[in-house]
Amino acid sequence: MTLFKIIRILILLAVFVVVAFYTKNQKLKSRSWTEPLSVVIYRINGDNNSPVVNEYINELDEGVFEPVDRFMQQQSEKYTLITKQPTQIRMGAVLTVQPPEAPLPGSGYAAIIWWGLKFRYWTYKNTPDSDSDMRRIRIFVLYHEAVQGRSLQHSLGLDKGLAAVIHAFASIEQDQQNNIVIAHELLHTVGATDKYAADNSALFPTGYADPEQSPLYPQTKAEIMVGRIPLSETGMRMADSLSECVDWRTNSERNQLAAGREITRPIRCFPMQLNDEASAILNSLFLNSFRRGGVLYTHCTSTRHRLFFPSGRGDLKKPGFDWQKV
Ligand SMILES: [Zn+2]
Repeated sequence: MTLFKIIRILILLAVFVVVAFYTKNQKLKSRSWTEPLSVVIYRINGDNNSPVVNEYINELDEGVFEPVDRFMQQQSEKYTLITKQPTQIRMGAVLTVQPPEAPLPGSGYAAIIWWGLKFRYWTYKNTPDSDSDMRRIRIFVLYHEAVQGRSLQHSLGLDKGLAAVIHAFASIEQDQQNNIVIAHELLHTVGATDKYAADNSALFPTGYADPEQSPLYPQTKAEIMVGRIPLSETGMRMADSLSECVDWRTNSERNQLAAGREITRPIRCFPMQLNDEASAILNSLFLNSFRRGGVLYTHCTSTRHRLFFPSGRGDLKKPGFDWQKV
């Protein structure tokens, strides 16, 4: 191996270590919900500088995105977060650069990781400012001309790095559905996972707004990590706006309240030994676990259950644990 190669590998390793440390810190801060997360929407013309898209982009104002803040606030009410307002959305500049081409669905793990790094470098280069990125989510919306029957590339929210790329239609009629995609990808950046199957149908029960409804169909709302409302066993439709969406976890708690079961206050559930991965998994389950004074707090919805860790606390490698009745 030449000296040049060794130096190159060492530099790459150093970059990985720095990124890993930064990401860990960013995750802990952004998911503590102790103060609002700043969400910045950067507008990009995704259709070769199309004048129709440019006109739409330039006429957009912050008020269009308000339903996203409202949704996050309403859905978090049941969680007794430290902050009363989980997100604060604002509009950033119009960008004239395009983010790196996203990997195609089904691309290998290495391609996705490589794209993630390139994309994060791109965000760093193109949206620098003095704000701390520990609690700032950058959302890059690529707008395209709304043509009937046209389908867009998948939007992507990074689980690491607080950034997302969204493909949206530049049309006033689409504003509210665009907000659904923004809320969905925003939740990905703070650890939420998709709740739909490969054929886009909602997973049961987590992908249903109200899995306890009887009869089960038609559902009236969409789980935000699905975006579609199950109408029958095989039928579904896109939600029209965020007012037709809920966060299932919130709803599930509401159902328990309705059933007269006691919901505990945030309690001191787990000692600090939980590693970052375990905290991330808990976050994706509860949305709002937080650490304070060296202790991880979470909202256990029922005292009848406790988390079962297959490989012992602090060594949670896979989200393979399950609720265990005690
Ligand atoms: Zn998703």
